[in-house]
Amino acid sequence: MSSWDLKTKLVQHRARHLYRSVRARLNAQGTTTRYQEQDYVSFCSNNYLGLANHPDLIQALQKGAEDFGVGSASSHLINGHSHAHHELEEALADYTERPRALLFSTGYMANLGVLTALLGKQDVVFSDRLNHASIVDAVQLSGAAVKRYAHAQVEHLMQRMFDVDYQRALIVSDGLFSMDGDLAPLPELVKVAKVQDAWIMIDDAHGMGVVGENGKGTLSHYGMGIDDVPILMGTFGKAFGSFGAFVAGSDELIETLVQFARTYIYTTALPPSIAAASHMSLKIAQKESWRRERLQTLITYFRKCAAQLDLPLMPSNTPIQPLMVGESENAVALSKALLDKGIEVTAIRPPSVPRHSARLRITLSAEHTQAQVDRLLNALEALRSHFPKHDNALL
Ligand SMILES: *Cc1c(COP(=O)(O)O)cnc(C)c1O
Repeated sequence: MSSWDLKTKLVQHRARHLYRSVRARLNAQGTTTRYQEQDYVSFCSNNYLGLANHPDLIQALQKGAEDFGVGSASSHLINGHSHAHHELEEALADYTERPRALLFSTGYMANLGVLTALLGKQDVVFSDRLNHASIVDAVQLSGAAVKRYAHAQVEHLMQRMFDVDYQRALIVSDGLFSMDGDLAPLPELVKVAKVQDAWIMIDDAHGMGVVGENGKGTLSHYGMGIDDVPILMGTFGKAFGSFGAFVAGSDELIETLVQFARTYIYTTALPPSIAAASHMSLKIAQKESWRRERLQTLITYFRKCAAQLDLPLMPSNTPIQPLMVGESENAVALSKALLDKGIEVTAIRPPSVPRHSARLRITLSAEHTQAQVDRLLNALEALRSHFPKHDNALL
C-alpha cells in the first residue's frame, strides 16, 4: 500500500462539490461553444471585447510566425527577444503612459516575478482579501509578511497598517476584481499609500481593454498615473483575446525586474507570433470603442432584466455579472440546469472565491446578441426559485 492515497482526497473533493473537470471545445472561442455532445450559448469566457477570434489577430499571428518562426528558443536575455517583442513593449509603454514595459509569458508569472523581485522577509504586503490566486502565491513566495484586508475596505486597510511596524510596505490589489466584477477603490487606496509612504501595485488583468478612456483600464477610469500607482500589471489573455502579460513602470522598476525577476529570467520568451497578435489586439481594443459601448449596452440591459427577475446580482457595472448562489452544491446544480437549456456558465467555487460564496460567474462579450442575452435571462427566470433569497435594495 502506498501512503500516497490520492483517491481518498479526490473522493472527498467530489463529495464537497468542489470537483472540476475540463472539456474540449471544438470551435474557436466566441459566444457559442461546441462540444462533442452539443452547442451552447456561452457566458463564461473573458473574451469581453470579442477579439479572441478576430481575423486581424489571426493574420498578425500568421505573419509573426512567417517572420520569426514558432519558438523563441531561448529566454529574453539569451537571444529569445525578437523585434516583435520589442515593438509590443514600446506600444505598451505608450498605452500605459509609462517609461517602460516588460513582457512576461503569463499574468501568473508576471505577479510571481514582480513580487519576488521586489519583496523580502523584511517587507510587509497589504493585500485585498479577494485578490487573484497568483498574487496570493507570489506574496507567499516572496517571504514578505502578508496582511490581508477586507475586500475594498480602506478603513480596514488603514487599521492594519497602523497595527504593524514596517520599513517598506506594498499595497497590492486587483484593479477590476475577477470574480466580483467591481473596481478597487483606487483613489482611496492611493491616498492611504501616500500618507503611509507605501507603494501600490495594481493587477489590471480584467480592467484593461474594458474600462477607462479607450479601454486603458482601471487607472485611466480614475485618472491615476504612474505617480499614484508605480507598478501596473496587465494581461493579454482576457479582453485583448491573445496571450501573455506585462508590467509597466519606471525605468528603474523595469531594470530591477530584468535583473531579478526569476519568472522573466529563467523561462523561454513568449512566441514572437503571440507578441505580434497581442500588438494587433492592443491597437484594435483602443481604436474600436464601439466594442466597449456595445458591452455597456448589454451590461445595462442584463442588469435591468435580472433585477426585474429578482436575481441575486452583485454591485458590478462591468462585463463580469456574477449571480451569488452561496453553496457549491447549488452552484453546480444551477450550472448543470443551464447546460441542459443550452447555456454555458461555469459554477465558480472555493478556493476561487471564499467559502459559502459560490456563484454563477456570468460574463458578457461585445459579440453577444440581445437575443442570446434574452435566452440566458429566460433560462434564469425558469430557475429563479433555485437562487437564494436576497435584497436587491442593497445594490
Ligand atoms: C487571469 C488573471 C491573472 C493571470 O493571468 P494569466 O495570463 O492568465 O496567467 C492574474 N491576475 C488576475 C487578476 C487575473 O484575473
